[in-house]
Amino acid sequence: MFYPMNVKDFLDRAETVYPDRIGIVDEPVQPAASLGELSYRRVAELARAQASWLDDLGVPVGGRVAIVSHNSARLLVSFFGVSGWGRVLVPINFRLSAAEISYIVGHSGSQVLLLDPDLAHLADSIECAHIAILGESDSTVFGGSSPRAWQGDEGATATLNYTSGTTARPKGVQLTHRNLWLNATTFALHGGLSDQDVYLHTLPMFHANGWGMPYGVTGLGGRHIVLRQIDGAEILRRIQLHGVTFLCAAPAVVSMALDAAAQWDGDIPGRDRVRIIVAGAPPPTRTIERVRAELGWEFIQIYGLTETSPLLTMSRMRAEWVDLDPHEQARLLGRAGAPTLGVRISIDDGGEVLAQSNHNLDAYWENPTATAEAQDGDWFHTGDGGTFSDGYLTIADRKKDVIITGGENVSSIEVEDVLNSHEAVREVAVIGIPDEKWGELVTAIVVTDGRPLSESELIGHCRASLAGYKCPKKIEFVDSLPRTATGKLQKFKLREPYWQGLDRQVN
Ligand code: AMP
Repeated sequence: MFYPMNVKDFLDRAETVYPDRIGIVDEPVQPAASLGELSYRRVAELARAQASWLDDLGVPVGGRVAIVSHNSARLLVSFFGVSGWGRVLVPINFRLSAAEISYIVGHSGSQVLLLDPDLAHLADSIECAHIAILGESDSTVFGGSSPRAWQGDEGATATLNYTSGTTARPKGVQLTHRNLWLNATTFALHGGLSDQDVYLHTLPMFHANGWGMPYGVTGLGGRHIVLRQIDGAEILRRIQLHGVTFLCAAPAVVSMALDAAAQWDGDIPGRDRVRIIVAGAPPPTRTIERVRAELGWEFIQIYGLTETSPLLTMSRMRAEWVDLDPHEQARLLGRAGAPTLGVRISIDDGGEVLAQSNHNLDAYWENPTATAEAQDGDWFHTGDGGTFSDGYLTIADRKKDVIITGGENVSSIEVEDVLNSHEAVREVAVIGIPDEKWGELVTAIVVTDGRPLSESELIGHCRASLAGYKCPKKIEFVDSLPRTATGKLQKFKLREPYWQGLDRQVN
C-alpha cells in the first residue's frame, strides 16, 4: 500500500501521542494578542479551524495563501492549517518593502494574504482577494471547525518560498510535501531530536520554513518556544526560562549570543545542554571555539539552500575527534559538513557544488528556464564554490552574484537595478565586503554623471523600494569600473582590496 507523505502527518502524530503536552509557547508580547501556551490538541484544532476557513473562502487545493509575519504561534499553525489540507503556504520575509511583498503576492497568485498586526498598513497597498490581520481576526481565520478531507499527494507543492538569487526579482521555490517531510525527518535524525527537546525559534520561520523545524519538532512531540525579536540577552533568558535544548541560527546571531554571554551574571544558560545549529555562512574557527568554551554549547554546522529544503550536509562532533585539541576540533567543525542521508554531493569542473537529494526543489514557480538551468544534468547547481574530500564539503567561495548579510540573501542585480534608476547614476556594481558582525555588507561602487551626489542620498533612494537589509551600507564613488576588453564587468577586481589575506571568499 502507498500512503502519500503529508506535512500534516507531523501534527497528527503530535495530537495522537502528545495531546496534552504544551507544544507551542507563543511569544508573550505579540502585538495583537499572544496565544500563550498551546497543547498539541489545541494546535491541531487551530489548524483544522484555519483549513475550514479556507474551505469557506473557496480556496481550492493548490491555491496559494501568503503570510507575512514575524515568528508567532499563528504562523507556526499555518504551516499545517494551510499545507496540511492541500493548499500552498507562501511565507514571506516581513522585512521586505510593500513593493517587494506585493510582487510576491502577485507572482504567486495568492488568493489570501495574512498579515502580522505590525504590518496591517500593507493591507492598503497590496492587492489580494482576501486579506486578514493575524490576531485581530482569530474568530474568522481560526474560527472554523471541520475542514474537507484531502486525500494527499506527496508530489504536490506544500510551500512556495521566495528567495533572492541571481535574478533581479526573487524566485519562488516550490517545495513538495515529500521534500519537506524528508528534510524534516533527516534533519531530526542527524540532529538527534526527541520528545525531550525544547526548541527556541531564533531562526525566522519564513526562511526556508524555519529549516523544517516547525514540522520535525512537532512530529517528535518537542516543545516550540516562539521568539519574535532577536536579541542576545533575550535568547539567553529564554533558554534559562524554558529549559531550551537546541536552536538554529546564522553566524550573526551566534555573535549576539556570545556578546550577551560576556555580560551575563552567573552560569551561562544551557551549558552542557544546548546544541546550536549554524548555517548561512562559514563560521570562523574562533567563533566555534568560543561557542564551545564560553557558552558550553554543542556546535553543529549545516549547509544548504532554500532550494534544498535546506539540509544537504551536517558537521557535528564525531567519535574519532574526541582526543583532538579544541582548536583542531573547531577547525574540523568549520567545514560545511558531510552529506546527510540520501544526499549526494559533487563538484563540477568549475568548482561549483552540485547536489542530489530527496529534498531538492521541484521547480521555480512559473520559471521553466531557471528551473532547467538549476537542475541541468540531474544535479542541483548550488551556485556555491567548494571542495569535497574525505566525505566532507568545504564552502570556499560563491559562483553566484549573491551577497549574504545577517543570514539573508541579497541579489546584487536587484540592488544594482534600483541604483541605476537614480538619474545621476551612470554605472554601478554591487559587491559584498567582509564584516565581523553581519558576515558581509552590501557595498555599491558607483560612477555618476558628474552631478553632486551623496552617499546618504543614494541610500535613501534605495530605501524607497528595497528592504533595509538589502540597501547598500557603504557607497564608493569612482571614475570608472574595471571591465574586460569585451566590456564585461570585473567584479573580482572590486572585491580584491576588501577580501585580501582571507582564505575564503565568503564570510
Ligand atoms: P538561503 O537559500 O537563503 O538559505 O541561502 C543559501 C546560501 O547560503 C547558500 O547557497 C550558501 O551560499 C549560503 N550558506 C548556507 N549555509 C552555509 C554554510 N554552512 N557555509 C557557507 N555558506 C552557506
